[in-house]
Amino acid sequence: MSNPQRLLGFDRRRLTEFLAARNEPKFRATQIWHALYRDLASNYAEITTIPISLRQALVDDLPFDTITPIHTAVDHFTSKVLFQLADGEMVEAVLMRYDRRNTVCVSTQVGCPLNCLFCATGQSEFKRNLTVGEIIAQTLYFARQLHNEERDNRSKITNVVYMGMGEPFLNYSATITSIKILNDTDGFALGERRFSISTIGIIPAIERFSRENLQVNLAVSLHGAEDGLRNKLVPINRTYPLFLLMETCRAYVQRTNRRITFEYALINEVNDSPLHAQQLAQLVQGMLCHVNLIPLNPVPGVDLHPSSDKKKRSFQAELKKRDISVSMRLRRGLRIEAGCGQLRARMPSLRKEGTS
Ligand code: SAH
Repeated sequence: MSNPQRLLGFDRRRLTEFLAARNEPKFRATQIWHALYRDLASNYAEITTIPISLRQALVDDLPFDTITPIHTAVDHFTSKVLFQLADGEMVEAVLMRYDRRNTVCVSTQVGCPLNCLFCATGQSEFKRNLTVGEIIAQTLYFARQLHNEERDNRSKITNVVYMGMGEPFLNYSATITSIKILNDTDGFALGERRFSISTIGIIPAIERFSRENLQVNLAVSLHGAEDGLRNKLVPINRTYPLFLLMETCRAYVQRTNRRITFEYALINEVNDSPLHAQQLAQLVQGMLCHVNLIPLNPVPGVDLHPSSDKKKRSFQAELKKRDISVSMRLRRGLRIEAGCGQLRARMPSLRKEGTS
């Protein structure tokens, strides 16, 4: 079977060109765009503004990207969905509801080639990059879910974070294109500042990103503030060592005038001593940045443990003492294994139990 182009991967210009090549009037692209990104249509049958004949033709010629939810785990504020892709691969995405925010966390790759010691996704083999459409479909899935809730409860996605499975900067163009599509003011219209990309520190991609002229937030996963430790936790540090990474981050801040968030997962007895905190403070000193401390999500089969509350508090205090802007990420979705890659890792047993 030939592999047709897919609808959600198209930006507005490509959609317009595609329809123009079929001699459709210009306003068809607008109708479809509005149906997709304003009315959140999930299939052509719902795009009632265009003629049935066109709908029928497009089902074959420009199909929706299908991602099928096969398991949902819900706790109070968090719902995590495992999606099956057209080729049978699986990825996860999470919706986190806060008081005034609804944040979606999306995946950008099936598996991940980076093998960070503490990350569930890294335990599984890297398979492939997601397409633009597969990335967008994750956000649209939750947007529809919120939209379909009872009227007085109805709400919208307010933030999208690229912090699910995979390394967004190893799938650079799909990541950026997906953001630009969802940012379109005549469509989904989510402001640039509502997006965050988390990277392990792929230096050439950070440089490229600094020239995009986007108001998108950048988070860099550090986890260690000296090369010996970071090499162990984050093997890609051997390719992109801290000195060069920090130099790149400083150049990013200078060029964009935007604050960087540094992520640091606190791992018991590994990177959580006052000395580690001092090293971290020294590393980021004087930079327009924020440190986000993350309590480690335990990963089955990995002998690493979260730091105690006392250790976490004193680590944070060490940074504060040195005037570093710092916060501790809320632990959410622990019960539903909302940590990176954890639901997919459990998939063989989920299959046996049957899915929801
Ligand atoms: N590859 C990107 C984005 C994916 S993970 C990156 O590395 O930034 C998003 C964040 O969750 C990263 O900071 C990652 O290091 C962190 N993370 C992964 N596994 C974790 C775990 N078990 N506990 C706490 N944080 C984890």
